[in-house]
Amino acid sequence: MAAAYDGEEERPDPTIGAHNLVVVVLDSLRFDTFLAAEPTVATRLGSVERRWSYASWTAPSHYNLLMGLLPHSSPSHVYASEYYKQDFLRYTERLGIPGIEFKNLLPRMYLPTYLRDTLGYSTHALVSMPVLNRHTPLNTGFDTYALMDRHNDMAAMVDRMHFDDVRPSFHLLNVGETHYPYALPNEDPADWPHISGVHGVFKHLDEGDVGGELQFFDDDRLALLRRRQVQAASYVDSVLEKLFDRVPRGTWLIVTSDHGELFGEDGYFGHGPILHEKVFEVPFVEGLVR
Ligand SMILES: [Zn+2]
Repeated sequence: MAAAYDGEEERPDPTIGAHNLVVVVLDSLRFDTFLAAEPTVATRLGSVERRWSYASWTAPSHYNLLMGLLPHSSPSHVYASEYYKQDFLRYTERLGIPGIEFKNLLPRMYLPTYLRDTLGYSTHALVSMPVLNRHTPLNTGFDTYALMDRHNDMAAMVDRMHFDDVRPSFHLLNVGETHYPYALPNEDPADWPHISGVHGVFKHLDEGDVGGELQFFDDDRLALLRRRQVQAASYVDSVLEKLFDRVPRGTWLIVTSDHGELFGEDGYFGHGPILHEKVFEVPFVEGLVR
């Protein structure tokens, strides 16, 4: 039989009973936004934990996720090395494969490569954000890696997922509905909220009000944007239903975010060059699809 992917011939046989692994990253989704959306599908996996991203924007956060280090719980009185060690032991349960340890990933320390070349997985990424496109160094160890045609269509991603009985698979889905402008796929782009973006921010940098506050968005606009992210979160939770139907039973599913988002707190909007608790606070839920 012809190999499905380059290098398939040399790939080791997978462990019998190994789980598929699907990591869904709801881009820019704040923890409290997800709670406000009252998800009913994601919570089938368990309760939604409040966790912390290692980075405040998309590219470094995804690199970290693809090292296998998921958003952390920020425990005190614990050495980082011990936390990483314990976190990696969780992959034994996630993958259904005994003996998964951080040292197994050395020296490359990259989960897709480890899953593919050592554990015999097929590996796939579908991303919504151009900053994650297939020409970036993130695209290492993947059999397939694609930037979606539209930045906000998770349902189209689910349609493109492929599972087979020959190998377990790893899928990364970077979902864009929850990213600014928090638009659902059926919404006319002409109706998206118009914001002058970066140029507007700089244009108004010297126009503080009498209290010295930066007034680049008014409160009504920020509240609207926040509501839009809640609606987008509610929508992608409903698309998770389609994902649950798509994945084979015994798939380990993780739903989280790469970073949070600011909606005017302390004068900030968005994410990236921001040091604020809300830009690191993310939802996290995982479990076996039964
Ligand atoms: Zn992001």
